[in-house]
Amino acid sequence: MAIKNAYLADLMERVIKRNPGEPEFHQAVSEVLESLEPVCEKYPEFITKGVIESIVEPERIIKFRVPWVNDKGEVVVNRGFRVQFNSAIGPYKGGLRFHPSVYEGIIKFLGFEQIFKNSLTGLPIGGGKGGSDFDPKGKSDAEVMRFCQSFMTELCRHIGADTDVPAGDIGVGAREIGYMFGQYKRIRNEFAGVLTGKGLTYGGSLVRTEATGYGLCYFTKAMLAAKGESFKGKTVVISGSGNVAIYANEKATALGAKVVAMSDSNGYIYDKNGIDLALVKEIKEVRRGRIKEYVDVHKDAEYKEGCSGIWSIPCDIALPCATQNELNEESAKALVRNGVKAVAEGANMPSTPEAIHVFQSNGILFGPAKAANAGGVATSALEMTQNSMRYSWTFEEVDAKLEGIMEDIYNKSAAAAEEFGMTDNLVAGANIAGFMKVARSMLAYGVC
Ligand code: NDP
Repeated sequence: MAIKNAYLADLMERVIKRNPGEPEFHQAVSEVLESLEPVCEKYPEFITKGVIESIVEPERIIKFRVPWVNDKGEVVVNRGFRVQFNSAIGPYKGGLRFHPSVYEGIIKFLGFEQIFKNSLTGLPIGGGKGGSDFDPKGKSDAEVMRFCQSFMTELCRHIGADTDVPAGDIGVGAREIGYMFGQYKRIRNEFAGVLTGKGLTYGGSLVRTEATGYGLCYFTKAMLAAKGESFKGKTVVISGSGNVAIYANEKATALGAKVVAMSDSNGYIYDKNGIDLALVKEIKEVRRGRIKEYVDVHKDAEYKEGCSGIWSIPCDIALPCATQNELNEESAKALVRNGVKAVAEGANMPSTPEAIHVFQSNGILFGPAKAANAGGVATSALEMTQNSMRYSWTFEEVDAKLEGIMEDIYNKSAAAAEEFGMTDNLVAGANIAGFMKVARSMLAYGVC
């Protein structure tokens, strides 16, 4: 799986040297450069005119101090980031992640992936990502509010409806977006569509909450349909129990599947009767509790400590929806042994390169994150459109647009894979289809 093209291999070496200690970023760049080998053979101008050289370097990285006061009156200092990676086809767009594991390399990998994902949606949005090493878990609402206000006090200088429009990600949901939007409005004295994932009373879009999970299932439905298959009667395993996982469960179930397992960062639950999603929502969305509380109510369900064991549960469809590199080679082999037919990524880069190789070499349908989880950002772009028009579409209108976009992403990715001689390789297809629009725009701008 090494890069063979001499220029691309050398560029990869330089990316590693220039961004030391950032393995997630190296992993994301390496996968894209590998996919672009046949593209560079067909269009050498992408190399000679510096497009590839430029696309791996963020346009701008903003790194800042976030001081705030906890409930004990102590000053706590976190670190904030915004990586404005590429604005060739529109304002920077991508979520904010609040999680203790956040550092520059994580935000860079996410921002880089976002360039191609956003392009695939067909909507005019560039790539960016941000976040902080702040951990909202266990914090009071007042602490989260004070942190969000401090974070936005700095971030508001760098974003804007036509410049950069952040959204949520791990640890950033409706509560955090509300606090940040309120602070932006207060400091800038303008009511602008500067964040997405907003509440419905102040400019949010219907379906945005559900969009990534629903979109993942629409993509998977299209991928299955191309092989004469569907969700109907299938057993599904979903990792995570956050925003993406919950709404993936809801849509997979609506499409006729039975979801039997979900997880959080401590462990996983297995309910052979099908997960009681209303209870999971109550635990995670209302109580902000732990997934193990599920078995207090459903005594015949099982809870096991540890995350990776979830992949040893037999299923037809696996939807990793928690975090990066959560599904490794060993887990992939277990899924294949147990007869998995399709894997589609709801989280960003949840499968390691070795795991993807196991799926692809065993003929398993594999939907990569860039394509499969693009429904969230696509609906964010629809929120931006509605904000610009000062008008709102109905749930059905947004949902229908989302399904159309996800089908289109599947078709574009499959067609690009086919065109470059890699039929059914949706990893390469998504990277290539996402790249072409951005690259052509960058060529048009000259060196800049
Ligand atoms: P949430 O914060 O709502 O949920 C994250 C879930 O993943 C929780 O169940 C969490 O468990 C679990 N998790 C987080 N970190 C780890 C870890 N290190 N090991 C195991 N489990 C972990 O986030 P989202 O649902 O929004 O995001 C999930 C994934 O989807 C991320 O990769 C994100 O980048 C991606 N994504 C999200 C989009 C969105 O619209 N929200 C859009 C596109 C991609 P716990 O509660 O224990 O922390």
